[in-house]
Amino acid sequence: MATALLASSCVTPLTLECRSRCGTQVVAGPDGYLPDHQGSLWSCDTLQLAEDKFLPLVAEQFPNACEELKVRVAFNEGPYWEFPAGRRISGIARCWNHSIELSSKVIYESSYAHEMLHILQNCEDVLPVDHGLDSSHADWRRNGFLDIISKWKADMKEELE
Ligand SMILES: [Zn+2]
Repeated sequence: MATALLASSCVTPLTLECRSRCGTQVVAGPDGYLPDHQGSLWSCDTLQLAEDKFLPLVAEQFPNACEELKVRVAFNEGPYWEFPAGRRISGIARCWNHSIELSSKVIYESSYAHEMLHILQNCEDVLPVDHGLDSSHADWRRNGFLDIISKWKADMKEELE
């Protein structure tokens, strides 16, 4: 599957026309940036693959997840960007306008699953805060979100390498 996907000349590059079956749509990042397929592995096809690998992992907790993934996704150039308070981040979710931004990290290291979990959780802080986490990820350990992210990354890596 992975070999066929990458070796195929039919891979659809990532463009503003890309839209997943659940309705995740690509929008331009800063300066109209879109990651190039060679560097990041993001394409229309891998955007769909990301969704296909994500949905089964969240099906138990979010049976209507597909409905919630009508999300606009923009990409930033570089693996990280500066965030206020001196933090460097590689993704952000904005639940108020149903959008996420991802860095150009290779897809299986990206924060796609992380940001989509924020969207599914409507960016709510589900207190109390699990040990070692902050309030915006308060329940992510006890509710299995950290495991979901690890599993998604492993599944994507297996498909794409
Ligand atoms: Zn987060």
